Amino acid sequence: MQTQLQFDNRFLEELPGDPEPDNFVREVRGACYSRVQPTPVRSPTMVAFSPETANLLGIEATDCSSETFLQVLAGNKLLPGMDPFAMCYGGHQFGNWAGQLGDGRAINLGDVVTSERARYAMQLKGAGPTPYSRTADGLAVLRSSLREFLCSEAMHHLGVPTTRALSLALTGQEVVRDILYDGHPKAEPGAIVCRVAPTFLRFGNFELLASRRESELLRDLADYTIKNHFPESGPLGKTSTYIEWFRTVVQLTATLIVQWMRVGFVHGVMNTDNMSILGITIDYGPYGWLENYDLNWTPNTTDAAGRRYRFGQQPAIAQWNLLQFANAIYPLIGEAKPLETALSEFASLYESESQQMMANKLGLLEFRPRDKELLDGLENVLSLAETDMTLFYRGLAEATEEMTPTARLNCLHDAFYTESELTDPVTHEIFRWLGDYLQRVSTDDVSDQQRRDRMNQVNPLYVLRNYRAQLAIDAAGKGDFSAVNELLDVLRNPYTEQPHRGEYAAKRPEWARHRVGCSMLSCSS
Ligand code: AMP
Ligand code: MG
Repeated sequence: MQTQLQFDNRFLEELPGDPEPDNFVREVRGACYSRVQPTPVRSPTMVAFSPETANLLGIEATDCSSETFLQVLAGNKLLPGMDPFAMCYGGHQFGNWAGQLGDGRAINLGDVVTSERARYAMQLKGAGPTPYSRTADGLAVLRSSLREFLCSEAMHHLGVPTTRALSLALTGQEVVRDILYDGHPKAEPGAIVCRVAPTFLRFGNFELLASRRESELLRDLADYTIKNHFPESGPLGKTSTYIEWFRTVVQLTATLIVQWMRVGFVHGVMNTDNMSILGITIDYGPYGWLENYDLNWTPNTTDAAGRRYRFGQQPAIAQWNLLQFANAIYPLIGEAKPLETALSEFASLYESESQQMMANKLGLLEFRPRDKELLDGLENVLSLAETDMTLFYRGLAEATEEMTPTARLNCLHDAFYTESELTDPVTHEIFRWLGDYLQRVSTDDVSDQQRRDRMNQVNPLYVLRNYRAQLAIDAAGKGDFSAVNELLDVLRNPYTEQPHRGEYAAKRPEWARHRVGCSMLSCSS
């Protein structure tokens, strides 16, 4: 490998670690991490890597195909300066306090400092057990790893804040999983993703310290986070700085959820241990992309009963999670009022950003208070017949006032799943809404072409459709990595129509409607 990476492991230097050097499952108190080595694997193979993420780290493209790169990213070798560790955190899972969780199968290798002085933590997911593995094995299977790898990069190219993925490697070893937790365990290929982010700190890191009343350490971790990631919040140690920091986290989280809603992303497991302190998407598990528009949809079968993490509930859950984070940092501030005020800003921030986002999706120059009616009407229209959200907006960009009602409806044709659902009353309602919409559009001084261009910049044509990810998983399981690499390439330009790649934009085929991995995913990974 030609590239010399510079590592600087501030997290280890500035915060206390677990004094126990051995790797066994335990409660870790008074520490933010435990040093732990990745478990070597037998015969790794590189499935795919992201040249963009490599570039971010300053890794030469040619190095990505090198043997050293593979061995490092499969956990068999460390580069000089790497000092691996697992982080200690807790979290609220499905609404209940779960106590210590921690990096049970993620191992940070170290922070790369680039030539532009940017810092990125590199983290292997699935590289073996850590002190936080509880009853699990520390490993990950190909299907979930491929989904995390592709989705991280897809989200980045869509403009949604996210952790990144550098690589996806097979370990050459099998991992046993019972996909639907119904007593059918099976051996699956093991895999490791290398994730990259400025930090992997979560709400749960702070919550765990607060729950244990380790106030001094809580303050140290907060100061570390502010100093390195939120310096604009103010001078360290001041109450006003902690409040400002919280306000920023509220703001970043609101923006993140608006972006998820824009592209139709459902995280699936918005536990507080899966909420990044940076407001970036983290921990891709049983996530899914909306196909037919449905506010109640969740891809996660583990959450099927309560649907806590359904599409339409994501903003409310984000706010609930922020409340848990506020409770955690309360000891630093000692007054509830400023935190309550900041938290209450979530709703108004979310509402105004969301309205602007929807105006953008519709190609309107701005959101006007009266547009609320148009948005309510849209919500209704999208629910009349099974309607693919992604294709709907791309089709809508083609509709113009000059067209007949039927021609306008034809623009949306690809978005409808079942023709027979387009009964007369349904088409009538769609005609009416299209009429209202195009009339509203005509009050902006924008040509149809300009509106189309604006809309197509915020409404993707290619998203990581669940069945497409599954096809790539099926192929990769048979040793064919071309599908995952092609999908990665398609998702690099989600807003631009790509010749000969129409099938990547196609709505979910019937066979995928109820197939495990396409419309149904569990936490098993
Ligand atoms: P998740 O639901 O994936 O966010 O995981 C919740 C917790 O379980 C985290 O502490 C993970 O590190 C841990 N975990 C999940 N899968 C495994 C595994 N296979 N081995 C060890 N820990 C795991
Ligand atoms: Mg997690």
